[in-house]
Amino acid sequence: MAIKIEHLNYIYSPGTAYEKHALRDICLEIPHGEFVGIIGHTGSGKSTLIQHLNGLVKATDGALYYNGENIYQNGYDMRALRNQVGLVFQYPEYQLFEIDVLTDVCFGPKNQGLSKEECEKRALEALKLVGLKEKYYKSSPFELSGGQKRRVAIAGVLAMHPKVLVLDEPTAGLDPKGRDDILDQIAYLHKQSDMTVILVSHSMEDIARYADRIVVMNKGAVMYNGTPKEVFAHYQELEKIGLAAPQVTYIMHDLKEKGLPVKVNVTTVKEA
Ligand code: ADP
Repeated sequence: MAIKIEHLNYIYSPGTAYEKHALRDICLEIPHGEFVGIIGHTGSGKSTLIQHLNGLVKATDGALYYNGENIYQNGYDMRALRNQVGLVFQYPEYQLFEIDVLTDVCFGPKNQGLSKEECEKRALEALKLVGLKEKYYKSSPFELSGGQKRRVAIAGVLAMHPKVLVLDEPTAGLDPKGRDDILDQIAYLHKQSDMTVILVSHSMEDIARYADRIVVMNKGAVMYNGTPKEVFAHYQELEKIGLAAPQVTYIMHDLKEKGLPVKVNVTTVKEA
């Protein structure tokens, strides 16, 4: 098991007027190599949850195991954890700051203490993986389009060779084409490697298209956790909390199960 979470709670600013119980009794297991989608409304706790995965946020109580080791035990190597669990934040392009794209993507591996040659090798490989054209490698990250910046930011995490890639709304603010490109690329990466992928989204379409398993968050708790089919079986409940395009997602999954390629937009489903 890559990640195991037991009865995890998280409270922001406990004991103050701003106290907020953001995560409630979360129990989750994420096996190696799985593609997991985490879906929920704004404020349901998705970002807070994923920031626990690489130790950025420490649970108020409960346990989190990475590869069977409790990350909250004394002496646990958080640095090693951060090297293995790569987190791509929302709007990651705001964290691009180096003089050119290649240098920016080298930043993570450089911090890992790798040689200049190794950093560049990994950066070039990562940029290729995210499909950024070579002509941009020496451009300033600020000259790029939104989708291109996003690719650079993802490459920056991939260059660290994470075992688990966590993406918080990687398509937020992109146009539909940019969105599909990025998600297809992530799905391709997942297929090519044994990397575990955790994709946070508020779009059931996006999640359903790629995830082996869907975790539905609601008000800080896990509401459903299962295969797309198991989760869509609750489409009426999902609809009640405004999280479903149930017919679309259900039919889509059915086609996928039959091995048929599907093309989807929000209102229609057809065989490709
Ligand atoms: P999501 O990612 O699903 O939008 P978040 O994890 O960002 O949800 O937020 C979960 C809850 O915690 C929300 O009610 C949010 O307002 C609250 N919250 C998030 N960040 C903070 C913070 N830094 N301080 C206080 N409350 C916060």
